[in-house]
Formats: sequence, structure tokens, C-alpha cells
Amino acid sequence: MAPIGGVMLGTNRMTRVLEIDVTNRCAVVEPGLINLWLTRAVAARGYFFAPDPSSQMVSSIGGNVSTNAGGPHCLKYGITTNHVLGLEIVTGSGDRIRLGGKVWDRHGYDLTGVAVGAEGTFGLVTGITVRLLHAPEAVKTILGLFATIDAASEAVSAIIAAGIVPAALEMLDDVVIRAIEAGVGAGYPREAGAVLLIELDGPRAEVEMEAERSAALCRARGALDVRVARDETERALLWKGRKEAAGAIGRIAPSFLLQDAVVPRSKLPQIMREVQAISARHRVLVANVFHAGDGNLHPLICYDDRDPDELARAKAANDEMLRACIALGGSVTGEHGVGVDKAESLELQYAEVDLNFMYRLRRVFDPAGLMNPGKLLPSHPACGEAFRAPRPVLPEGAWV
Ligand SMILES: Cc1cc2nc3c(=O)[nH]c(=O)nc-3n(C[C@H](O)[C@H](O)[C@H](O)COP(=O)(O)OP(=O)(O)OC[C@H]3O[C@@H](n4cnc5c(N)ncnc54)[C@H](O)[C@@H]3O)c2cc1C
Repeated sequence: MAPIGGVMLGTNRMTRVLEIDVTNRCAVVEPGLINLWLTRAVAARGYFFAPDPSSQMVSSIGGNVSTNAGGPHCLKYGITTNHVLGLEIVTGSGDRIRLGGKVWDRHGYDLTGVAVGAEGTFGLVTGITVRLLHAPEAVKTILGLFATIDAASEAVSAIIAAGIVPAALEMLDDVVIRAIEAGVGAGYPREAGAVLLIELDGPRAEVEMEAERSAALCRARGALDVRVARDETERALLWKGRKEAAGAIGRIAPSFLLQDAVVPRSKLPQIMREVQAISARHRVLVANVFHAGDGNLHPLICYDDRDPDELARAKAANDEMLRACIALGGSVTGEHGVGVDKAESLELQYAEVDLNFMYRLRRVFDPAGLMNPGKLLPSHPACGEAFRAPRPVLPEGAWV
């Protein structure tokens, strides 16, 4: 999306894996490479690329870097920034710069860290050096069935409080379960009010022990049942359901607003109660699927776009949910990035002095404000150094 017009550039042909350096556990890739393709390219050698947004079948590593994407397994492994060693960027001023690099090549300012999550406002990412991890010895996936989302949220808190760090800890509510079962048929029990998908990985003995403890904690928090995936096929099916959850909602609603916000995970039970209250207050159906271990919520607010009143109620609920997350100490975005939609919301979270510092930093890379204008930073005049890119003059009929 180019909110104020301009040139759009696609990286979908820049899909090469330029180097796989197993000795140094890294790879150099072009930005258009699809996330999952990298893991496929290194799996036979026993490695994987850890950031796994649920969109990993279609999203690019350049996009993951630019939004600093998270994903189900980022609970244990960290988000994209923890796996990017170096970047090549063509900045807004036309310089082709190299930031960071392989592990021995990363002294001075950590500009790679600064540039991850810049959402294209510094320039175009044209090359990425990423960390590769060794695949774990054992993986176990458990499905905990709960009567209510409240009980499942309490189980999440209990697992984390017990010092267990699952590779992934995902929650799905009854609305999502029914949609997935009608579509993908992943084997989620339709009678459950909520399910927890818990994945443990690591050395075999540790995985066995933590799986038993996690199952016991679920039972102690009122789980109706706890099931363990019997083989790789069953495990893959459970994950297929989770990763296609948003698509499955299309079966039950013509449209949905997908909110992405985060709260401290200790506040999970509280925010889930809030979400349910907001949904009831605005009379909108909300489907919940989220990275529970990170406190990262994704309420999908269903509405019919042919009904303006329903759309207005969905937007009001969306806004209230965001504010509720911030009031509980959370953030305007959990992982999807700020983009255009949330640029103005940054002011809910940052002081003017913080935002002004970001404006100045941006100018270092992109003095004329050419790169992704209108994204990430608010244009509100309350920010002393508001950075409005000049509106480009476009030929008639130009594609924006
Ligand atoms: C069903 C679904 C599930 C999702 N699940 C997750 C999830 O679990 N975790 C998560 O974090 N996100 C998730 N997302 C959001 C999104 O898929 C991710 O943020 C992903 O990282 C975006 O990658 P992309 O290739 O689609 O980038 P795009 O959407 O094309 O771009 C994202 C931003 O980055 C900029 N950009 C892209 N490439 C470059 C480049 N080479 N140089 C400079 N700027 C660039 C774009 O201009 C844009 O501002 C999900 C989205 C969907 C639809």
C-alpha cells in the first residue's frame, strides 16, 4: 500500500539463497525468499530458520525483517531480530550500505538491530544474513482441551510460572476451532471452549519430562482432556489448523478485522475477559487465535461489510481492544508492525521526545522521506519534528 502515492517495488523475483554456511551456522539470502523455503533448503543438513510467522508459507524474509516478525516458535527462539546477523540496504539517499554481517564481522554500533523493524522507512533491504539453528533432537506437541478461554489462560500462566519455556504455546477459542474443523479438519475437538497447542522441543529426556509437567499443569487448571500428537502426521495436522486459522474464519464471516496487540503475559486472563466484554458490548463476533505464551493477541473481529453499522461496531471494538491492551501495559503491535493503520496510535505509547528521536534517526537513512512515506511514524503535528514527505506529483492514471 502506498498511502500518498509513489512507486511500488516488488521483491518477489529476488528469491535466491546466495550462501549456506553451515560451519558458521548462517545463510545469506535475497529479500524476496519465502520464509519457509529457507528452512526447506537447509532441513536436510539438520538446520532450520527459527522465525516462523503463521504466514510463513507466503511471507518473504525481507518482509519478516522489515516488520520484525514473530511467530508461534518465537516464544522460545526469539523474534526475527534475534536471527538477523547482517543486512544490505539501499537507503533513501541512494547509498548501498552493509550493516553487520557474519558473527565475527559485527563490531561498532548495532545498526542491524536498528534497521530490523524499520518497515522500509530506511530504504530497501536487498540482502540478509540470517542465523541458522540446529534442529532439536525431539519435538512433542500436546493439545490441552478447556471448557473456557479463562481456564486455558490460567494454564498458560501456570506453565510459564513453572519455568517451562515451550517452543510454542498457542491458544484457539471455540469460534476458531469450529471454523478450522469445518475447513482444514485438523482434529481439534469441537466441544472444547478453547484449546492450547503446546510444543516442546530439545533433548529427548528434557522434552519428555516437560511434556508430563505441562500436561499435569493443564489438568490442575481444569483441562477436560490432554492429548499428545502420536506421530509427525498428526503433529503436522495440528499445526496446519493453527497456521490456516485466519483463512478458515472466511467460512463463518464475510469480513474480519485482525487486531494485533500484546500485553504482559501475566495479564492474559484479564485481557481475555476484556476482549469478551468488548465483543458483547459492541455485538460483534470475535474469534481468538493467538501466541498465548507471548501475550500476543489476535482477535479477529467478524463483520459483514455490506452492513455499515456492523462495520462501525467492529471498528469501535477494534479500537477499544487496542486501548485495553495499552492500559494493561501492552503495546500497539505485537508483531505485525505499525504500518499505516497504527502510525497514529504510536502516540498512545511513546512520548513526543521518543518519537522525535525516531524521526531524526529516520532522516539519517532517508533524508528526503522517500521510502515508505506515511508508514510507521505518525504525521501528527503534535510531534515537534513531524516529518511529512512531500506528496509526489503523479502522471494521470498512475498506479498508487
Ligand atoms: C494469515 C496471516 C498470519 C500472519 N501471522 C503472523 C505471525 O504469526 N507473526 C507475524 O509477525 N506476522 C504475521 N502476519 C503478518 C505478516 O505476514 C508478517 O508481518 C510478514 O513478516 C510480512 O511479510 P511480507 O513478505 O508479507 O511483507 P509485506 O507485507 O509485503 O511488507 C511488510 C512491510 O515491510 C516492507 N518491506 C517488505 N519487504 C521489504 C524490503 N525488502 N525492504 C524494505 N522494506 C520491505 C513493506 O513495504 C511493508 O511496509 C500474518 C499475516 C497473515 C495474513
